[in-house]
Amino acid sequence: MRDRLSVVVGDITKLEVDAIVNAANEQLLRGGGVDGAIHRAAGPELQEECRKIGGCPTGEARITRGYRLPARYVIHTVGPVWHGGNKGEADLLAACYRNSILLANAHGLSSMGFPAISTGIYGYPADEAAAIAVRATMDALPEPGASPDKVIFCCFSEESAAHHRAALDAILQ
Ligand code: ADP
Repeated sequence: MRDRLSVVVGDITKLEVDAIVNAANEQLLRGGGVDGAIHRAAGPELQEECRKIGGCPTGEARITRGYRLPARYVIHTVGPVWHGGNKGEADLLAACYRNSILLANAHGLSSMGFPAISTGIYGYPADEAAAIAVRATMDALPEPGASPDKVIFCCFSEESAAHHRAALDAILQ
């Protein structure tokens, strides 16, 4: 599992993978945070394709082309807004990772990168979110060599990366 999951600190729009995952909103309209960065880097065609899709419920995922990104595809998933933890947030966040991986599998993609979904504007505590991200990803990954084979957790801060590394260590020890 170690060779299939990695943690990096960086800008997800620079990632050279088959698909990057976007922490989108239910309207699939260009927003702030990682969503704004992805739309800026991909160009206006991305917003146009998102507009045609029309929206995406929390916990689900939709796929578009990547346009000017190095990634061929963008998988848009909508993380839960943090309301204190008793509103199904954990299940919805896990569903984001699972459904994004299922979509990558359906498209035969071998590598993908995730941002730390819901941990920015949506306010999910970063340590809890990282534990869910790692657990849900490991549960959803198919057998080695199947699609997707490699998953990168692309963290925007060293602190976020430390949470993901700790979660990986805790599960894999
Ligand atoms: P959400 O609304 O799901 O909370 P945000 O975009 O506000 O989404 O934040 C999700 C995570 O993405 C945060 O940890 C934020 O620091 C991170 N982030 C913001 N910009 C980038 C980027 N260019 N690459 C990778 N991660 C990013």
